[in-house]
Amino acid sequence: MIKEKNIQIIGAGLCGSLLALRLGQRGYNVTVFEKRPDLRKVDISAGRSINLALSDRGFSAMDLVGIQHKVQPLCIPMNGRMLHDTEGNTILAPYSGREHEFINSISRGDLNSLLLDEAEALPNVSIHFNYECRSVDFENGISHFYNYETKEESTKSADVIFGTDGAGSALRKSYYLENKFLFSFLQDYLTHGYKELSILPAENNGYKTYKNALHIWGRGDFMLIALPNLDGSFTVTLFLSYAEGEYNFNNLTTKERVLEFFEKYFKDALELMPNLIDDFFDNPTSPLGTVKCSPWHYKGKTILLGDAAHAIVPFYGQGMNASFEDVVEFDKFLDKDYGSWEQVFEAYEKSRKQDTDAIADLAIDNFHEMKGHVNHADFREKRNLEMAFEKEFPNDYSSKYSLVTFNENIGYREAMLKGRAQDKAILNMLADGVIKTPLDLSTKSLKNTLLQVQKETEN
Ligand code: FAD
Repeated sequence: MIKEKNIQIIGAGLCGSLLALRLGQRGYNVTVFEKRPDLRKVDISAGRSINLALSDRGFSAMDLVGIQHKVQPLCIPMNGRMLHDTEGNTILAPYSGREHEFINSISRGDLNSLLLDEAEALPNVSIHFNYECRSVDFENGISHFYNYETKEESTKSADVIFGTDGAGSALRKSYYLENKFLFSFLQDYLTHGYKELSILPAENNGYKTYKNALHIWGRGDFMLIALPNLDGSFTVTLFLSYAEGEYNFNNLTTKERVLEFFEKYFKDALELMPNLIDDFFDNPTSPLGTVKCSPWHYKGKTILLGDAAHAIVPFYGQGMNASFEDVVEFDKFLDKDYGSWEQVFEAYEKSRKQDTDAIADLAIDNFHEMKGHVNHADFREKRNLEMAFEKEFPNDYSSKYSLVTFNENIGYREAMLKGRAQDKAILNMLADGVIKTPLDLSTKSLKNTLLQVQKETEN
């Protein structure tokens, strides 16, 4: 039975506010310190992306804390990828052959606000804004803060400190800088960055393009995506190299050049974006990277969760979902009969790390898939076949995407291994002509093909 009850959480983003809610529900005394002002009161940019794709792993976390019914109305279902070619032709490629499987677009600000409201409603949770953690004395469980309102520095101690302060975590930096134990740390930037743009609502507050899809303009070396918002707008994100290629962030410096780029590659999107130039020059360009580190915890005193432990690139739409799943997985270890926080932390990290490493790698794979592969014939044939399998034999087949996104009962690592083996089997069978195109989608032929794929996958 763990005796220490006073918990400090650094960072009240998506993971930190969910963690505060869950630990509060469990009866711990939770104090949260957040660097930024309260986003429910001050109109600040919510953070690194305006909206996000929420899927089954994230929903399980909402279920755990009993707020799924409050999250649902904030969601816009996205049933598939709407692929836009350079001519403006579109194809809707479903995410799954099972109708009940789709992802959801949700506002980061709305979701974070809801989690803060729910956590703060508990008498044993308090949240303090404008407190930036500058460093953590992890040996003694003391954090050092700077308060942006009072301009004062202070120290706060706790039995246990959770670092949920995102990709630039102050707790992680303290592990690294103090050099008191063997701390491994890898930060790997992509050569691409991103910039957020927008498609504003139509005059009647409707949607200017199809609402229930994640729109993708994949162009090989770069791409544009758009996710719908409840007010009729879309948040559009341009992923582009900083320095490589004919057009890149470093050389898109004039209005004329930005328009030339969009006219050449994203003509149909440009028609929906009369506000492009203002957005392009008003909004920042931000980097994208992967962070892997270990150990996440120091003895029984401190631990990293969410992006602070494992930031990933956004191309599987799983960073937030994985961070939420951290809380679900961590919570399971609190149910076990451990005598100390150190034992809980150790057991949790041992079980969880392989899964967060896997989703980091899958997210990089999907970067290449979304930019280019989605437009290749063999990739499309594979997806068509997988959709047909999932529709016709819903209990017998799940694609890699479905295993990762819609199957929270298996870990990311298992989803990755199984999914990759299936992908390899199908692509090889298509290349060798074992699966003939155009596909014969009759039930009998599909069943035979499925059996062959399953056999190849096992080999
Ligand atoms: P954060 O959301 O970064 O929260 C950290 C919090 O800590 C913030 O509130 C911050 O202000 C605070 N903080 C930071 N430093 C300090 C400090 N020193 N002291 C006190 N407080 C501090 N994930 C998905 O699942 N689906 C998606 O579709 C998706 N799309 C994305 C698109 C983009 C462009 C990007 C960049 C990411 C996307 N993600 C997506 C990933 C997702 O944003 C993150 O995985 C998620 O926000 C992680 O939550 P977190 O709470 O761990 O970190």
